Parts: sequence; C-alpha cells; structure tokens
Amino acid sequence: MESRIDRIKKQLHSASYKLTPQREATVRVLLEHEEDHLSAEDVYLLVKEKAPEIGLATVYRTLELLTELKVVDKINFGDGVSRYDLRKEGAAHFHHHLVCIECGSVDEIQEDLLGDVEKIVERDWNFKIKDHRLTFHGICWRCHKKADEEDTSKNEEEK
Ligand SMILES: [Zn+2]
Ligand SMILES: [Zn+2]
Repeated sequence: MESRIDRIKKQLHSASYKLTPQREATVRVLLEHEEDHLSAEDVYLLVKEKAPEIGLATVYRTLELLTELKVVDKINFGDGVSRYDLRKEGAAHFHHHLVCIECGSVDEIQEDLLGDVEKIVERDWNFKIKDHRLTFHGICWRCHKKADEEDTSKNEEEK
C-alpha cells in the first residue's frame, strides 16, 4: 500500500501537484476499497472517518484531479451515479465490469480479451484506440447459485 501511495505521489508531483494530507486520505480510502466502485459521497463518508475536518467539495476536487491524472477512472453503470475506480497499475486498458441486474454486484475482469475487436475497429474505421470501457449487464454467478438452490429445495418439497 505504501509503495502505491508513493507512486501516486510521484504521479501528482510530475503534474506539479502535491499529495496534501486531504488528498492522501482520499487516495488511502480508494486503495482500501479498490474493488468497491465508490461514489463521491461514499468516498467522502469514508475519508471523514480518517480526516473529520475534510469537506465534500475537497474530496470531490481531489477525485476530479485523480481522474484527470488517470489515477482513477470515473465510471457510470447506468444508475446516474458517477463512481471512482482505481486504475490497476501497469494496465494498458481499463478493466471490464460485470454488473448484476438482480443484486447490483459489480465484478471485474482484468483480462483484456478485446485484442481482435480493437484490430478490426482500427482497420475498418481507421480509428486509433486509446482505451475502452466495457460493461456487461446480466445475472451473476451468486444469483444463479441462489436460484439453483431455491429450485432444488422446491423440488425436494414436492417429492
Ligand atoms: Zn472496476
Ligand atoms: Zn447478482
């Protein structure tokens, strides 16, 4: 964790920004909740536990700055809420998301999988791809499992 904070600090420095204590508290919360896809409000409530004096506007500005510097990606899963997602270190592309329409869970796919698709797009549209976002909407394995279990117990009752 400390080494990642160090590297984020360097990223800020190279863009002539400082890692102020408020910014650092925000970055720590994002690192601690790396797969949680927090909204600005969520981040604010968690940062407040570490730095009670911090205001929502400061957290918001920090998130915008981190987005600009590509430390985080801002995403929207179609519910109108912007969420902040730490970019994985060394990742050439943003990871993919699986959003469950039943329980609302969000899983991540780190594998890129889109190499062939990108080749086709670059060739046929003469478009130089820099990044992409891919969100799948469907039913997650947990909900499948739950549905299967409910089916099984129903069948057993009928026997
Ligand atoms: Zn994610
Ligand atoms: Zn689900």
